[in-house]
Amino acid sequence: MILRGAKLLDLDPPAVRVGDVRVVDGRIAEVGEGLVPGVGEIVEDLAGRWLMPGLVCAHHHLYSALACGMPFLPDAPEGFTDMLRKVWWRLDEALDLGAVAVSGLVGGVGALRAGVTTVVDHHASPNAILGSLEALDDALGGLGLRRVLCYEVTDRGGAEKARLGLKAHEGLLAAPRDGRRAVRIGAHAGFTLSDDTIRACAALGRDAGVGLHIHVAEAVDDEATVGEPPVARLARLGALLPGSILAHCVHVGPGDLARLSDAGCWVTHQPRSNMNNAVGRAPLPYFPVRTALGTDGIGADMLAELQAGAFRSQEAGDGWSPADWARALTAGARLASDALRVRLGRLAPGYAADLVVLDPVPGPPLSAENLPAALIFRFSAAMVRHVMVDGVWRLRDRDPVGLDLCALDSRAQGAALEVWGRMA
Ligand SMILES: [Zn+2]
Repeated sequence: MILRGAKLLDLDPPAVRVGDVRVVDGRIAEVGEGLVPGVGEIVEDLAGRWLMPGLVCAHHHLYSALACGMPFLPDAPEGFTDMLRKVWWRLDEALDLGAVAVSGLVGGVGALRAGVTTVVDHHASPNAILGSLEALDDALGGLGLRRVLCYEVTDRGGAEKARLGLKAHEGLLAAPRDGRRAVRIGAHAGFTLSDDTIRACAALGRDAGVGLHIHVAEAVDDEATVGEPPVARLARLGALLPGSILAHCVHVGPGDLARLSDAGCWVTHQPRSNMNNAVGRAPLPYFPVRTALGTDGIGADMLAELQAGAFRSQEAGDGWSPADWARALTAGARLASDALRVRLGRLAPGYAADLVVLDPVPGPPLSAENLPAALIFRFSAAMVRHVMVDGVWRLRDRDPVGLDLCALDSRAQGAALEVWGRMA
């Protein structure tokens, strides 16, 4: 297939040019002007529309997809842990495998519509542990999305549920690699994990050759509950495995960040969640090169996350330029490339054909110099028209291919009411 006549937007490093893209067997085979079609090769004229690599949400909670609109509780949560107990743990405990599957579909559609082609998820459903990652895998795989999955192991439900949480990873760890699915070992957060359970997560990760995916110092509660700095504790327990994803890192110091960077770990930043949970402001000036953006379950709109984060840090004087934000946005593709062992995130030969066609926002000329600022001030998910993953169109004219949206809406309403009923 040749995608003809697009404005090609590379984000890492920023570049703007006009040209064609040849896609062969799920990969970009050639980028240039006036590519000549071979016999039988399909040509799609993009007629000046904008084309960019698919985005990556580096920390999501798809299980929250049925949360929006759930009945509020009479007594407002006091602090972060209280909010987990009163809201999120009640929600995840009410999920069954059917609700997990619907959450995956609803969240996956939201991701495609935001131009996201890879979702890195952190899943919990303590009363439907075994089979939950397979349910998410089926849902996201059915939509054509790449995914990096894990189950968040925790001691909050006792030793048996912690054991099942570890076991939940085994099926997908044993599945053949296809470049569309990867597994990390999930762990909730230090303050709900014993030393032994963290050691067990690290041991499973070492055996499987994969890193962990864990919340770290999201709120002050993490260190206050345990009585030990979270990064130092993970290091003491041998859990800072290369390729691990440490979400949040709001309450850590420059030394902690340097330590986990040296260990080859990733940090993810979720500015909207940090604001919504009032947990504080992440020390962005010290965040390592391996910092990617996530949403923490507030949908998968990475451009909205980018904009909110940029404004928040601008107000605080953190010193991140638009180029720094663009790097954090595109770093998700490097994180996902490492996990999936597929080259993601650039419009260049050899990279996966994970592509987003955008309706242009008419205005001043785009350039390599102003593209990072345009991502913050001009781009939005509303521009996303088509999405290709692995060389196959998965969203056409904003509709997920092969999915009846109205039927999914009806199914999601039913599933949400069932979950809310169990929460009550
Ligand atoms: Zn999270």
